[in-house]
Amino acid sequence: MNFLEERIMKDGVVKPGNVLKVDSFLNHQMDMKLLDRIGAEIKRRFEGENITKVLTIESSGIAIACSVARELDVPMVFAKKAQSVNLDGEMYVAEVDSYTSKRKNLVIVSKKYLSAGDRVLVVDDFLANGCALQGLISLVEDADAEVAGCAIAIEKGFQEGGYRIRNLGYRLESLAIVDSMDPDTGSITFRTQA
Ligand code: 5GP
Repeated sequence: MNFLEERIMKDGVVKPGNVLKVDSFLNHQMDMKLLDRIGAEIKRRFEGENITKVLTIESSGIAIACSVARELDVPMVFAKKAQSVNLDGEMYVAEVDSYTSKRKNLVIVSKKYLSAGDRVLVVDDFLANGCALQGLISLVEDADAEVAGCAIAIEKGFQEGGYRIRNLGYRLESLAIVDSMDPDTGSITFRTQA
């Protein structure tokens, strides 16, 4: 087991509805040393890819994306979920079904921060059905920038997102892939990765 799988086994909580709660260390209270290790491991996997920007979606992707961007020494951009007075000028917009709130969100990035010529690493905390990643990928493609790959902390391998994204031909790296989890017993199994 790698360091993230070990932490999930120790502190992750399996909830009904295929939800894995990791809010004691990843997306509410955050273990900054763990985030540093996640950033370093993602950098290792995408070394040599000439990434110019890291893109994520607010809010729970932000901490991981910051850590990755710091390691790669490139800017981090996060897609915003709502129109706000701080968003002005021209924007790229995509519609995303939210897994956790079951709502549709518009995700928005200012055209100033994604450009043709960027090689973008798309980062998020979880991958379930792939809607968040697909929305982010469409923002990159609307900007005529290139998707260098996608990096995820925890992929739920029993949901279809991983299959969808890989099937579209994108490189997808997930540090932990959960193959099964059971809210009654709390058991979690991981896919063996090379
Ligand atoms: P997808 O768009 O791939 O269906 O879902 C990914 C998004 O939903 C992620 O941005 C993540 O915030 C949230 N998400 C999906 N599954 C889980 C889960 O099991 N636990 C938590 N904490 N968030 C999840």
